[in-house]
Amino acid sequence: MTKTKKEEKMVQTTRFGLLYDKTPQLSYDELKSELRTIQRNIRQFKNNAATQFFDYMSKREAMKAEMGTGKYPPDEDVLDGLKISNLFYKMATETIPEIQTGNASAAVASVLSRFNTDYKDVLKGTKSLASFKRDQPINISGDAIKLYADGGKLYIIISIFSTAKRQALGFKNGQIKFEIWHKSKAGCDIVRKCLSGEYSHGSAMLIYNKNKGMWDCNLTYKFDAKDNSLIPDRICGIDIGFLFPVYAAVGGSHERLYIPGNEIDKHRRTVEALRRGFSQSRKFAGEGSVGHGYKKRMEPVNDIKDKIAKFRNNKNHVYSKRFVEFAVKNRCGIIQIRDLSGITEKTKEAFLKNWSYDDLKRDIKYKAKAQGIIVDDKIKPYYTSQRCFKCGYISEDNMNKRDFVCQSCGHKEHVDYNAAQNVATKDIDLIIERECEIQGIPYPPEKKKKKERGVAGTDAETEEDVDEDIEEEFVDEDFGEAS
Ligand SMILES: [Zn+2]
Repeated sequence: MTKTKKEEKMVQTTRFGLLYDKTPQLSYDELKSELRTIQRNIRQFKNNAATQFFDYMSKREAMKAEMGTGKYPPDEDVLDGLKISNLFYKMATETIPEIQTGNASAAVASVLSRFNTDYKDVLKGTKSLASFKRDQPINISGDAIKLYADGGKLYIIISIFSTAKRQALGFKNGQIKFEIWHKSKAGCDIVRKCLSGEYSHGSAMLIYNKNKGMWDCNLTYKFDAKDNSLIPDRICGIDIGFLFPVYAAVGGSHERLYIPGNEIDKHRRTVEALRRGFSQSRKFAGEGSVGHGYKKRMEPVNDIKDKIAKFRNNKNHVYSKRFVEFAVKNRCGIIQIRDLSGITEKTKEAFLKNWSYDDLKRDIKYKAKAQGIIVDDKIKPYYTSQRCFKCGYISEDNMNKRDFVCQSCGHKEHVDYNAAQNVATKDIDLIIERECEIQGIPYPPEKKKKKERGVAGTDAETEEDVDEDIEEEFVDEDFGEAS
């Protein structure tokens, strides 16, 4: 076995609060009002860009089809001599004249990356092109940022404004200084590492934090992925369990890690309590009511939504960290995760009904990458719990409530550990498909009739509806802008 030596640059972000270090030229109220204007204009720019991009896409696809070469025409042919990035840059400098050019470029890069990510889905019609809501983040280029420490405090200096704007404000150097307000020591350490040169900072986003009524900064930073002597072909398998919500095992070893069921139960109770509050506030606010005071009345609703989102993010952060640490501790070069996207809601197990497995997967991927671990989260979900990991025999009868008892070789095992071991097997998809062929089992399995596992009652469905409703509104705010 060889050891991996990965020297890949990793990019992550850290978020902190900004405490304005006042200058005589610009009061805090003035600054806030300037930032608000910029936000509005950024939103305008992004929404205009979306419209433009849609036209560009359609024209480009039409031209590609017409040419019949299977290749896209150069942007210049589609856009009368311009590249899409140039067109956007022009739009940005015109629509957001208050910001300096580097920041305009950062805004362009951010929308372009978003549109390109969605391109295929938009083309298929499964997604519509992003529309940008209020409170858009303000993109700041890496060059417009300076960090420094003074008297035990950390500061960030940001060049936000364009030359014209600076002149209008009578504020020549236009450098806005903030004290960095990081609630965690780890967060401060990241900034200090940027200062010492161990990390290097990149671009940032200024985000208005409605709850605190202040501005936050999301700063990206780069560092070398750690060489932690992973064994490239050692696999950590992660699966949704029957007895435990999520279960991990290291292939060929006894090592295992799981989230205790009661933790998720606690989580579910909290979310349900929050959601009850949510339904009540919604009733109070009046469905679909508009007019004076509506916004005010919706405030508690937004509060609760924020709480649920924060709570979930927090939990996913804790869990993903635990799983990745487990993989690192066991020197797994690979993490394999069972993919549940093709699976019906009911199979997703009651535990996870109120909790997003996809978010957990995403967090695991993100953290694992930083450790140089390769993640395959597309392991097919078929028969991983019914297959005996010792002899490969697949049967529904192998599963006997808490215990897995192989009907072929007699091997007895914890059901979730057995499944996680399967997921931790190299080429498991192929192996299971072949085994099915040999045993004459349909692959993929035929869909079961609904009534076989009629667990969820009507109550649960209503709850899920509310839940989805909340979730939908979160997506944009939290992750839509990650770049
Ligand atoms: Zn067996």
